[in-house]
Amino acid sequence: MGINGDILTIDANGVTYFVTELENMSSKPSKFHDYDVLILGSGAAGLSTALHIDQSLRIAVLSKAALSSGNTSYAQGGISAVLDDEDSFDQHIADTISAGAGLCDPDVVAKTISEGSDVIDWLLSIGVDFTRDNNPQSTHQLHLTREGGHTHRRVAHVADATGNAVQSQLIDEVRKRDHIALYANYIAVDLITTHKLGLQGNCCVGAYIFNIESGEVEVFRAKNVVLATGGASKVYLYTSNPDGACGDGLAMAWRAGCRVSNMEFMQFHPTCLYHPKAKSYLLSEAIRGEGGKITLEDGTEFLHEFDPRGVLAPRDIVARAIDYMMKKHGLDNVYLDISHKPADFIKDHFPNIHARCLALGYDMTKQAIPVVPAAHYTCGGVVTDEHGQTDIAQLYAIGEVAFTGLHGANRMASNSLLECLAYGRFAGQHINRYTNESAQLVDIPAWDASRVSDSDEEIVVAHNWDEIRRFMWDYVGIVRSTKRLQRAKNRIDLLQREIDEYYSHFKVTSDLIELRNIAVVADLIIRSALARKESRGLHYTLDYPETNPSMDNINTVLIPDLNQPAAGWDTETHLSRLHK
Ligand SMILES: Cc1cc2nc3c(=O)[nH]c(=O)nc-3n(C[C@H](O)[C@H](O)[C@H](O)COP(=O)(O)OP(=O)(O)OC[C@H]3O[C@@H](n4cnc5c(N)ncnc54)[C@H](O)[C@@H]3O)c2cc1C
Repeated sequence: MGINGDILTIDANGVTYFVTELENMSSKPSKFHDYDVLILGSGAAGLSTALHIDQSLRIAVLSKAALSSGNTSYAQGGISAVLDDEDSFDQHIADTISAGAGLCDPDVVAKTISEGSDVIDWLLSIGVDFTRDNNPQSTHQLHLTREGGHTHRRVAHVADATGNAVQSQLIDEVRKRDHIALYANYIAVDLITTHKLGLQGNCCVGAYIFNIESGEVEVFRAKNVVLATGGASKVYLYTSNPDGACGDGLAMAWRAGCRVSNMEFMQFHPTCLYHPKAKSYLLSEAIRGEGGKITLEDGTEFLHEFDPRGVLAPRDIVARAIDYMMKKHGLDNVYLDISHKPADFIKDHFPNIHARCLALGYDMTKQAIPVVPAAHYTCGGVVTDEHGQTDIAQLYAIGEVAFTGLHGANRMASNSLLECLAYGRFAGQHINRYTNESAQLVDIPAWDASRVSDSDEEIVVAHNWDEIRRFMWDYVGIVRSTKRLQRAKNRIDLLQREIDEYYSHFKVTSDLIELRNIAVVADLIIRSALARKESRGLHYTLDYPETNPSMDNINTVLIPDLNQPAAGWDTETHLSRLHK
């Protein structure tokens, strides 16, 4: 991967320029950047981690696109926390464990849930303007909503655009700190570990980063690296997530030697707007909570045929019912209809959703809105401990990229931002305690692009992107079967070989980096789904439609083979109790 070089110069920003020794290498020097902490990702997880790290440590926060381009900005509902006198930690814990269908780690749930009110206090302290009311029962005087799975009103929110408010306030706060440098349009290609460098042990020492504007791969060396790269729902054809949610961090951690757990549990949101120009626009569950109906085109309701709770059934049941009806009747979409409610009520409760639909030609006060289920949240991820540490020393994973044990087989609504912000703090504190400021950074070779050329067949990248997302939707979607999963496995094995070959011949681009990663993630999801021979939480398979009680507390843990990291073809799949 890398080659050795000679130091040329160090500029005023601490950037070191190297010239490599390879004869046929381009004469352009590679840029080297040195930091105490390198954070990949600028959503709630990445920025909150940065804000909890001591000002004596130099931090770089990278985003592969604009700083606010991740999932965080898109969150509508809010953040769950026990803020009402009549609510309790025990009840929030019990609700989370019940949603997680036998796979939540009770210690992790208790630790995270008990952070809730501190998280909200902290967000208030940096200026997040939560919607308020004068509820005397609420210690914070905040308006609290109730979402699927919660037995109490406990979701603090900023109207129907909570994520946007949180994201912009976090960015404002980070910009005030001189010790934090922000890099937009920098996409991480791979982690650099001592194992990959042929040194002893497996410790993360930095990352190769593709500067999208210059087209060059730069080296970021750091004493700690934090993966805060978000989820992987883009691996499916239909998703509520923005374009960047390709599971880059998951794939990089896997290639570097981290265990990955519970990837079969992908959450599908039942109601994404079905419109060619709004490829990832979510219609909040709160619409159903306020009386919205799910119907066929002729207005027929059908959810009560699947669950006595009808529209108020949990989101996985609603998504499965819609998927069934769409497949049975060959439909492109179903409808979400709240037009029977007064127009002022709708505009008042859903100002942003109403405006967005109107801009796309749908007036939700007057008509039903076409919707499809869409991949929404990645419950599994990189295995971490209670500080957010992964299996690799000095590498943390925080937020949607991580598997902490909080969500189990099904994430409860609004627990994910809480997880990002709680673990941001845990990891920040751990980094403060264990970073040795005087420790030396490891010598890292520059990126070697000497043996690759510009691609002459970019169609391969576009084609493979489409193919993976299409077969993941058709074969590894809401309802699965062993036969379909096996079909998907055959295809992904083939595609991974093709993509790896392409990757070794052509210069990297953002699309190629992401394609290589979604292929890895697709493989991890398929393997995990094949390994779980039961239906539980978000994983439903026609061949094993029942939950097997003897599988309670048994997580799917994939263990990479460091000798075959690129595709990990021969890796074992273990269904085991997790020992962190
Ligand atoms: C439509 C929608 C509504 C939601 N509503 C809610 C809600 O109401 N409540 C709730 O709790 N949760 C909600 N969620 C889930 C929640 O928003 C996410 O789980 C959470 O925001 C994830 O935050 P994160 O910081 O882990 O990742 P993100 O916010 O997705 O940030 C990922 C960051 O990583 C960067 N990145 C990724 N790959 C690379 C790379 N290779 N190199 C460099 N940078 C990289 C991205 O550019 C981005 O900056 C919702 C999600 C969606 C999509």
